[in-house]
Amino acid sequence: MKNSRVRVRFAPSPTGPLHMGGVRTALYNYLFAKKHGGDFLLRIEDTDRSRFVQGAEKYIVDALGWCGISPDEGIGAEDKLTNGGKHHPYRQSERKDIYGPYVQTLIDSELAYLAFDTPNELSMVRERAMEAGNPNWQYNSITRTSMKNSLTLSKTDVEEKKKVGEPYVVRVKMPRNEEIKFHDEVRGWVSVNSMNVDDKVLLKSDGLPTYHLANVVDDRLMEITHVIRGEEWLPSAPLHVLLYDYFNWERPSFAHLPLLLRPDGNGKLSKRDGDKLGFPVFPLNWNNSETNETASGYKEAGFYAAGFVNMLAFLGWNPGTNQEVFSLDELISSFRLEKVSKAGARFDFDKARWFNQQHLRLRPKKDLLKEYLELLKKTSGHVPEKNWAKKSLDLFMDRAEFVKDIISESTYLFEDPKSYDNKVVEKKWNSDSPVFIKTLKSLFSQTNYTSESLENCFKKYLSSSSLSFGQVGPVLRLAVAGTTQGPSIFMVMELIGQESTERRIDSALMRLQ
Ligand code: GLU
Repeated sequence: MKNSRVRVRFAPSPTGPLHMGGVRTALYNYLFAKKHGGDFLLRIEDTDRSRFVQGAEKYIVDALGWCGISPDEGIGAEDKLTNGGKHHPYRQSERKDIYGPYVQTLIDSELAYLAFDTPNELSMVRERAMEAGNPNWQYNSITRTSMKNSLTLSKTDVEEKKKVGEPYVVRVKMPRNEEIKFHDEVRGWVSVNSMNVDDKVLLKSDGLPTYHLANVVDDRLMEITHVIRGEEWLPSAPLHVLLYDYFNWERPSFAHLPLLLRPDGNGKLSKRDGDKLGFPVFPLNWNNSETNETASGYKEAGFYAAGFVNMLAFLGWNPGTNQEVFSLDELISSFRLEKVSKAGARFDFDKARWFNQQHLRLRPKKDLLKEYLELLKKTSGHVPEKNWAKKSLDLFMDRAEFVKDIISESTYLFEDPKSYDNKVVEKKWNSDSPVFIKTLKSLFSQTNYTSESLENCFKKYLSSSSLSFGQVGPVLRLAVAGTTQGPSIFMVMELIGQESTERRIDSALMRLQ
């Protein structure tokens, strides 16, 4: 809308946990709003009570909160504004009475009509069409002429039916054979012939609005300027655009975001994929006590919100530069709808982990140390001294994608090797090995147990005995750490200290004969 403050909304239906595709939609809306100094609203579209799931709304609010996507208005913004804002309520089930008068204006101007066909009658018509070879029967500008509605019945019949309380729905009257054209910020011009859109129900027989009506009316009332949503809503857009025109309202801008695809590119990454593909599809763990349904989330899998959000941002958008690692603030300043792609975005869990690794490296040291110490205590009961922990963190964090990796990769700091990898022993350990490590043990005992002195001492030994690193290094590492992989063994020795190092060497000498 021209010259008005940018206002966008995320409008999920509380039908279960919020899929990461939904979080991405919320994120793009949020980035767009913040970039333009506008408002991001959270509205709950819960008019379809048959699909309502207890706990889903709270999950949505918590998930967005974890990601740092905080609504300026609506559900979840009650701490900022009374009732969440001036357009409250923001739950459609609490807005029931709002929609009727709008539908009435459409009926009055003959752009919508009452349809009295019972569900039974409708399924009979569908069946007959099917038998006649038309499986796609639609209530539309052609078929409505032979149905039971206020366009075919006399005024008195309609009044009579209403008087006796015969149930009816209100349908939109689609024009016959007209091009409905609108501009999509992602897809460019979209044009659909009205013959391909049926006379959708706007108001159900229980007086509740359908998604289409409530969505359009609420977007208008809440002064939404840009409708940014998933591609699955593209087929609904022609109807929505037409409703704006019917109401004589200025249309908002539309942007339909690309689908999230499975890693093999085969189809949409759906809620039902749950944990089946080996990674979570939800931001947070989900436990539904009513159905006993559970699914894992990124947060509990050890992801940082910043890493998760960065990864999501790149599923369908890129900044047009080589930069990949972004904070939320950087995303806000770089985000542009023009850079959102039309093509489906293939999800890649390895890449998701890579993003997390980048954010782990960017963590303030103080925070990372705290997380490391907490997890260490929780998982193994160890409570090391702070300076010592700092050194071990520095030593192991480079390869870690998650804090839990630092712990699993560094178990030998806390425990003597229980066993040695047979394959490594076969390859690296030979009849000379015992002499090497026995000598080293004694040389090390004459120097300071700091990584620097230990390394110097080791190098001197190599050159004075004309040995290569490859002959001795892996053997020492195997004896001390039980593996040939890992960071500087001298640093490891400094951290575990002389007593442990010597005990481990002695034990290896006994066990690796
Ligand atoms: N309630 C719809 C959903 O669940 C909203 C679609 C839209 O943004 O218009 O996604």
